[in-house]
Amino acid sequence: MGTRPLLERHRAVMPSWMNLYYEDPIELVRGEGRHVFDSEGRRYLDFFGGLLATMVGHDIPEITEAIREQAGRILHTSTLYLVRRQVELAERIAAASGIPDAKVFFVNSGTEAVETALLLATQYRRSNQVLALRGSYHGRSFGTVAATGIRGWSATSLSPLNVTYVHSGYRLRSPFRGLDDAAYVAACKEELRTIIETATAGDVACLIAEPVQGAGGFATPPPSFFAEMKSVLDEYGILFVSDEVQTGFGRTGAAYFGIQAFGVRPDAMAFAKGIANGVAMGGVVARGDLMDCLGANSISTAGGNPLACAAAVATLDVIRDRDLQANADHVGARLRAGLDRIAADHACVAEVRGMGLMIGVEIVTPGTTRPDTALVTRILEECRSRGLLIGRGGLLGNVLRVTPPMTVTEEEADEALRILTDVMDKVAA
Ligand code: PMP
Repeated sequence: MGTRPLLERHRAVMPSWMNLYYEDPIELVRGEGRHVFDSEGRRYLDFFGGLLATMVGHDIPEITEAIREQAGRILHTSTLYLVRRQVELAERIAAASGIPDAKVFFVNSGTEAVETALLLATQYRRSNQVLALRGSYHGRSFGTVAATGIRGWSATSLSPLNVTYVHSGYRLRSPFRGLDDAAYVAACKEELRTIIETATAGDVACLIAEPVQGAGGFATPPPSFFAEMKSVLDEYGILFVSDEVQTGFGRTGAAYFGIQAFGVRPDAMAFAKGIANGVAMGGVVARGDLMDCLGANSISTAGGNPLACAAAVATLDVIRDRDLQANADHVGARLRAGLDRIAADHACVAEVRGMGLMIGVEIVTPGTTRPDTALVTRILEECRSRGLLIGRGGLLGNVLRVTPPMTVTEEEADEALRILTDVMDKVAA
């Protein structure tokens, strides 16, 4: 294949742990709407959006123009000077967060955003004890890796954070599996209380959680889960941090931040990925007193730089002006219904789940809850050869992640469903 020479050069100078998709990895060179094109001219429907960062699609004129216009003026100034669009963006995010007296700090990635939120929470509470959910992914720095509850992503135990894991609300392989929602959430709540009482020193700084787990395979807890968990946290004065890196800005539909769909107001939220449609940006929005608790100076040299802010403001405008949260709900429901039909015909699908345009399809050995990772590899390859890019996730990489940009149309959803149906008919029971 034509990408072989580049692949060999990649392998020679880049880390072995950088996981490329597909037997013959793809070099994408151009994007248009929900489509991307590879270096050999093949066209694909992009239903993974560059790991959920291509929020509203490729080559969106308003965003391209905003970036071009800003690039023609000034690229970088640093956090030592006022940046008008940064202030405007912070105002919008603070208002949308629903957090009282909210303040916003911009960085360059999800990892930095979560790291900052953990820094604030541990400093505020003067404790390095953190609760995280099993199956979580929060980043690749020392702090965030410790809070990551998937062994395959958690590269080291040598972290300064003292992390204890609690139930994530993911039911499929949980000991509480057979319970109905209310009994299940009650069991999770009881477990949280027991862990706080028996496995911590009693001064836990925060619980960090993704409303819908991203790398964890779009595991989605029952609607009452976070409110009930938060009621326990409140008893102990433990802060609640929502990791909105994948769920922020309407990807889950009506909720601007995913946690809002659960009726819970966190003390801080970390965001990144989709905010600037793929241009590097992240940040934290937090209660003012929490944000202001650091006693030392802190800067992020490029955080909130004029270029990223121009891209972010334009992206958030596109989401608002094109009513894309409604579209995420509408097309998401259509995709979900189609995937439910596929599940009904294929015993290897254990569960279809998610919210809005984050839809996970868990693949198992039929009749069991045993992950079938090899089958997922085949499904991804077959989708690719038919022109559809999707992602994978889950504890063992056995969950299909279907998550197109928010501008996706009904026709594109139907095309993806046709391809997935074909593929499943061919490779799966
Ligand atoms: N939190 C979540 C929920 C994520 O999905 C990710 C990235 N996959 C991160 C944090 C880290 O973001 P980044 O890769 O931008 O550092």
